Amino acid sequence: MEAMKEALLGIWPLWVAVAVAAGGAWMGWCWRRQRRLQWESTQLRSELNALRAHQEEAAAHERSQKEALFNSMVEGILVLDAQQRVQLVNRALRTWFELNEDIRGKTAMEILRHHELRDMVNVVTGQGKAETIELEIPGPKPRVLQINACAFGNGQGARRGAVLVFHDVTRLKQLENLRKDFVANVSHELRTPLSLIAGCVETLIDGAQHDPVAADRFLRMIQKHTERLTFLLEDLLTLSQLESGRSLFNFQTVQLRGAVDRLLDDIRLRADARQATFSNRVPEALSVRADSQRLSQVLINLLDNAIKYGKPGGTVEVGAQGGEGRMVEVWVRDDGPGIPANALERIFERFYRVDRARSREQGGTGLGLAIVKHIVQSHGGKAWAASEFGKGATISFTLPMASDGNEPAGIRKG
Ligand code: ADP
Repeated sequence: MEAMKEALLGIWPLWVAVAVAAGGAWMGWCWRRQRRLQWESTQLRSELNALRAHQEEAAAHERSQKEALFNSMVEGILVLDAQQRVQLVNRALRTWFELNEDIRGKTAMEILRHHELRDMVNVVTGQGKAETIELEIPGPKPRVLQINACAFGNGQGARRGAVLVFHDVTRLKQLENLRKDFVANVSHELRTPLSLIAGCVETLIDGAQHDPVAADRFLRMIQKHTERLTFLLEDLLTLSQLESGRSLFNFQTVQLRGAVDRLLDDIRLRADARQATFSNRVPEALSVRADSQRLSQVLINLLDNAIKYGKPGGTVEVGAQGGEGRMVEVWVRDDGPGIPANALERIFERFYRVDRARSREQGGTGLGLAIVKHIVQSHGGKAWAASEFGKGATISFTLPMASDGNEPAGIRKG
């Protein structure tokens, strides 16, 4: 036993060497392990960074998409927080209310300054109710806005703010007013001759039928007002066809001077009744590309007006010249009292008349120039009036020039 102990102690340097070797190996293992862990953590960190960068990129992409969507909306959008402070405003709303400076954090009332709006926001944020109002915004370009507002919460019942969507309904309102005016005008235009006809019939029934002179007078009045109703309905029908785009236009080359000559013959009787004389100053060579029947309608309406509103015994001149951009300018000029400056644009509106009584007396429907404007526009031209009050009126319009006189006819919807 003792001998074994001594033998083992005798080889102690070996034990030390083994211990040192084992220690070294263990340290080496630890070092390698640490290096590996370090490498793995660097790998992980760079993967994490890449993931974060990817997420940030995706978030930025989504944000810019949302921003583009938000700003490209034709509706105005305003997002308020629970304290009614501005969180988001899109481009449409900024433009309408001319909001240039940074308005984030301001109250809706501070930036929009409309009491109806404030009341609405109070109801929406206070009671959580959805609301809709209509707001008229005065200014150089007045607008009518319809505003829908609703509250939004945090999902647990607490209110977080409100979203307001602004719709520009100005054009819609204008059209609605036009429609209302049109219906009121048509009713009025129909009611006047109808009540006159009813009055004549009643007078005839009450005894005038037995007096030949009175009977003749009342029957003629009935005839006149019936004709007026017929003209009115015809004009209304024409206008409605033109406006609906249902009327077909048969475009062909029309030699202008010849067309004017034929029309002047057609209305010679009417002109003679007012001792009016015509002068056709359209150059021979001019041809237009037009629907000849519609062109006749335009010229008849203008010639008719020149006779009606020109002075008795006056001269009505029709002229034309090749204008810019391959358009031909045509005009009808009279030497009557003319048109006041403030009415020059309005006479193309439906039912607008400078002198209502005079127009009615002459059998006018108030729709002649509105029809002219529509027909001319359907040809790609425009119509306008010029006048020095007291010195006659000139109504002009443009039509496309026919290029060589041999173009094929073409049918198109007007
Ligand atoms: P109307 O059936 O009343 O003639 P129009 O639409 O043809 O309707 O014309 C509208 C109004 O424009 C007329 O009522 C008249 O007051 C005015 N007007 C049109 N042409 C002339 C003209 N040559 N001279 C003076 N006033 C005109």
